[in-house]
Parts: sequence; C-alpha cells; structure tokens
Amino acid sequence: MKRPAGQPRKVEFYKHSLGPQEFQQVQRVLKGVFLTAGPETAAFEREAAQFLGVAHSVGVTSCTSALHLALVALGIGPGDEVITTPMSYVATANAILHAGATPVFVDVEFATGNLDVGKVKAAVTPRTKAILPVHLYGHMCDMRALAALASQLGLHVIEDAAHCFEGSRDGVRPGQLGTLACFSFYATKNITSGEGGLIAGNDPDLMARVKRLRNHGIDKPVSERHSGTYVHWSQVDLGFKANMNDIQAAMLRPQLERVEALRQQRHQIVQRYNAALADVPGITLHKVLESTQSAHHLYTVLVPAPQRDAVLTALQADGVGVAVNYRPIHLMPYYRAHMGFREGMFPVAESIGAATVTLPLYPKLKIADQNWVIHALKEAVK
Ligand SMILES: *Cc1c(COP(=O)(O)O)cnc(C)c1O
Repeated sequence: MKRPAGQPRKVEFYKHSLGPQEFQQVQRVLKGVFLTAGPETAAFEREAAQFLGVAHSVGVTSCTSALHLALVALGIGPGDEVITTPMSYVATANAILHAGATPVFVDVEFATGNLDVGKVKAAVTPRTKAILPVHLYGHMCDMRALAALASQLGLHVIEDAAHCFEGSRDGVRPGQLGTLACFSFYATKNITSGEGGLIAGNDPDLMARVKRLRNHGIDKPVSERHSGTYVHWSQVDLGFKANMNDIQAAMLRPQLERVEALRQQRHQIVQRYNAALADVPGITLHKVLESTQSAHHLYTVLVPAPQRDAVLTALQADGVGVAVNYRPIHLMPYYRAHMGFREGMFPVAESIGAATVTLPLYPKLKIADQNWVIHALKEAVK
C-alpha cells in the first residue's frame, strides 16, 4: 500500500461523533434562560438511568469527580483502604487519594487487563471499605463474581465505567450490581460533552446524598432555587461544586439515542482489526469473552515490549495517531515517591503496560484509513 502522492496520510487518533442534532440541541438551550443544572440535565439523568437499567443517575463535571463523590457519599476517607487496579488512567487511584483513603492495588488478568477477581480476597484487610474495578477498554469485569465476593466480605463496589457506558456482560450493565457506577463524557470517550460525568445507582437515599454532594451539600437543587418563588435553602452536608450543566446535557441526549448504533459501528471496526491482525507474528490481541458485549472504547494490541516505543514512533511517522493505555499507575513517579511502589509488584499489569499500543477506533474511521493503520502496524512489527 502506498501513501497518496504529495500529501502525507493522517489518521487521527480520535474523532468525535457530534453532528447536526447536537448542534441544534445546544443552540436551543443557549436560546433559553437556564444554562446550569436544570431541566436538560434532569432529562438526561432520567434517560441515562433508563438506558443503564438503574433507578437513579446524577450528572457531574467528570468521572474523576463522580468517583470522588461516590467515595465521599459512602463515608470512605482517611484510614480506609480501597482495592483497585493499577491498569487504568490515573484518575481511578487519584480519586481514592482525593477522598483521603488509600488505594490498594491488585494485579489484573492478562487476557482482558481487568482486575483479577481471584486475587482480591488476599488484599482485603480490616480497613478495606470498597473495591473499585475498571471496565477496561469497554470490556466489563466479572461483576457477578465481584459483587458476590464483595457482599460476602461486606464491601462496596464502585465501578469505574468511564470506558463502558454501553457495554454489558452476562446480561448485566455497569451500575446494576455495583453500589455505584461512574461514567465519563470526556472529549475522547464514546459519548462526550467535552467534559462531563455521571453517577448511577439504585439506592435512593445514597443517590440523594450524591446529588447534594455535587452542589455544596445544599438541600434544594439549583433549578428549584431559580424557578418559581424564592424559598430558603440550607447546606446540610459539606459538599463540592461538581454539577453537570444543561449545555452538556443537551449535547449528550441525542448521542444517547444513537449510542447502540455507534457501538455497532465500533464493533465492525474492531472485527476488521481482529481479522487483519489475528495471525500476525509479533502481535497479541486482547480477548473479548463470549458473554460480553464490549463498549469497544479502545482497541489495543500487544507488541514485543522491547519494540513497543519504536512501534509508536513508526506509526506516528506514518501519520497514525496512537496512545498507550496504560503505563500502570503504581509506576508513576508520584505513586513511587509517595507510596513506595516499585517494578515487579504487579507483574501482569506491568507486562501489559510495557507492550501495549492503542490504535484509532471511532465510528468516523474510514475503511481506507483503517487499512493504512493495519499496514503501518504490520510494517512496524516486521
Ligand atoms: C477518562 C477516564 C477517567 C476520568 O474521566 P474524566 O471524566 O476525564 O474525569 C477515569 N477512569 C478511566 C478509566 C478513564 O479512562
């Protein structure tokens, strides 16, 4: 395959799927009077909860704040431990530190990169309060096994579902078995409002607490305070400032309607990658288990670790946008310095982190561009 003459080929790592429906809805909200958490946010929360098959959802500014509020709402703080995975974006463990608690890492399974449920029990201490798994790349953890273990041990499960709004496993969606599930609408996530997040759950009292915590612990929602006649409001908890606004909600509602169609498009792109790369020497693919409907957030391959950085360089020289998801959290300089982590502590996560390359995956990825990515990758691992 040749590059088109004269112009270097450029395959973006990510392109969003926003279109005329989102532009229209945002314009409609901008023409109204209410911009912050009002009727659009409430409508999105209802629709998202319905999609997820949970009783309640609360819109927030990011998944990072969702995770933080979830921990605070459950009363998890200083002196408490939260079991989580080192194979994630730093936000997962940072949120635990923001709450004043201690992240306790447990290694992952090689096939999916998800928290190894079989290793969780050995990490539990009298201080453990919760398990915080990540549904990595859109492929759900074994939530049935994890929820059963958590209830046996008397622990909460807070799901980091930033990659997995629309995924399911064994007929279960994020938020259905966990105490709370947290989602991200960051710029590169499957559905996006540039920045944004959501907390989902079934416990009405807990969700009411989450809703207060997103706005300073005030007992009345902002929309009520600004509509109708003035009524005194009171602060009853020490909360934060983390509410979603109506502009974000207006962008998200049309994407929610298309989310299954968008997932199908991602699925087709993944099938094409899998077919083209399955038998290429030097490339190892992650597994999607049969029982799982992946949200296909990220498509990653493993290449020989000593070659990985050269593969990243070669792909970029061919105009292909790449990323690494993830170099493990425990080896970040901050975590090494403050918590004493070293190489060798979580060998499976480290082996993935040293070998992984993320390729472009989004509904707007054209077949010709995907072919170019495949070609460039095959050349790079030769
Ligand atoms: C993106 C991401 C987050 C953070 O989401 P924000 O909305 O940017 O705060 C958390 N966890 C994982 C696994 C992510 O990929």
